[in-house]
Amino acid sequence: MDRMQHLLAESSALHRHLCPRQVLGVRMGMLAAERLGMELPQDDKRLLTLVETDGCFADGVAVATNCWVGRRTLRVLDYGKMAATFVDTLTGQAIRIHPHPRARGMARGFAPEAGDRWQGYLLGYQRMPNHLLLVDQRVILQQSLERLLSRPGARAVCQVCGEEIINERELLHEGSVLCRPCAGESYCWPAAAGMAQTVRPASSQDRLPTPSPAH
Ligand SMILES: [Zn+2]
Ligand SMILES: [Zn+2]
Repeated sequence: MDRMQHLLAESSALHRHLCPRQVLGVRMGMLAAERLGMELPQDDKRLLTLVETDGCFADGVAVATNCWVGRRTLRVLDYGKMAATFVDTLTGQAIRIHPHPRARGMARGFAPEAGDRWQGYLLGYQRMPNHLLLVDQRVILQQSLERLLSRPGARAVCQVCGEEIINERELLHEGSVLCRPCAGESYCWPAAAGMAQTVRPASSQDRLPTPSPAH
């Protein structure tokens, strides 16, 4: 429990508050260490973690594992789920952990002194045994580890937009090298000049509107 308190202190310092979601993230990271038989938080890049949402939960996981976006050891998927998959890149073992469907309802029972429901989650999630709080399952990754990790220095240029693509994320389409947006997987597109003005902050309205560049 000392270890958990230490991790929670680190996570809340990062956040300026401690909340139930950080506790869940920390507890998942700690369970992953147990299940994979690894020393976590790691001081190398052996563990790759994929979190299924951003926010407080993801920071709890990051602190407990020492996996970070900037080190390429943390991937953030936007599924809106408080779940994570922990991959030992040395053995290829992967384990996905999510909250027990009944954890929320049981938390209060572990924190009878809690003044409200939120406090009940905050304290209960710290005290509940793993098997009541979390569900863990071995999983197989859809992509190979080699593909997922790629290699440093890999570089391509999209033949449509001309932008650089690293980490072997280019696609081959009818003999052309394309980035994912140009292959049809775009999450945004250039705004028309008239439309761009409507989303400018109010403070810029007294200046002459200028047409926005394509990128
Ligand atoms: Zn929070
Ligand atoms: Zn492109």
